[in-house]
Amino acid sequence: MYIQKAKSQIKKLAKEFDLEYNPIWFKHLWISVRHEILTEYIGTCPDPIYQKYGKTTEQRIKNINKFVNSKDFQDCLKRYGGQISQKSELKQEEKWIKKINNEELRKELLKFQEKLKKRFSKNDFLALLTTPRNERETKWQMKFLLRHEWIHILLNKNKIQFQEIAKKYWYYDEGINEYLGAYLDGTLKNLEKFRDKEDYPMEKRYWVYAIKLRELLKDKDTPGKRKMAILNLISQLKK
Ligand SMILES: [Zn+2]
Repeated sequence: MYIQKAKSQIKKLAKEFDLEYNPIWFKHLWISVRHEILTEYIGTCPDPIYQKYGKTTEQRIKNINKFVNSKDFQDCLKRYGGQISQKSELKQEEKWIKKINNEELRKELLKFQEKLKKRFSKNDFLALLTTPRNERETKWQMKFLLRHEWIHILLNKNKIQFQEIAKKYWYYDEGINEYLGAYLDGTLKNLEKFRDKEDYPMEKRYWVYAIKLRELLKDKDTPGKRKMAILNLISQLKK
């Protein structure tokens, strides 16, 4: 049921922001927190906790044993969340994984990659979500996170990709995502409240950028005008 609900919300966004939509683009896979964390770590997720082990994938692969045996990793395992995986990046990720010198870890992650490949099938993107461990996580994953990851897919499929302009713009990708979630929930007036409630600095910035998007879109009253404003922002940032 939550899958249908999330899909109909994505469809509504597509209509109201003049975006292309195809229901087959939206797939998901439940994964362990361990695999979620390791995938984020190997990807270039800019979370400061991973940055401590290297800013580039090369450095992170070198330090992966150190990371897996650290208190940081234990702390990360308490998290829950999700991300999108991109089929075009699988090959590169596999190359990185093959450079891990801990054989057990290398085999484990290669097996995980195989599982991803199968689930992608013909799709370009796949939402990865951690399997919920309790009621609270279940509610969050199904009500918000699946939708959040699918909004990323919708935007990517429509070439609204800020971090493709430059890595440093990735806050816009999260900001527009939170903006669209709040748009669906009718909570755009509460963005400042969400910002002030958030303790984690990285996530606080998502709301700061959501507020920028709300400013940009505030008087755009048709799907066409909304899309145009977003595309104009992208071309400005490209300059
Ligand atoms: Zn996100």
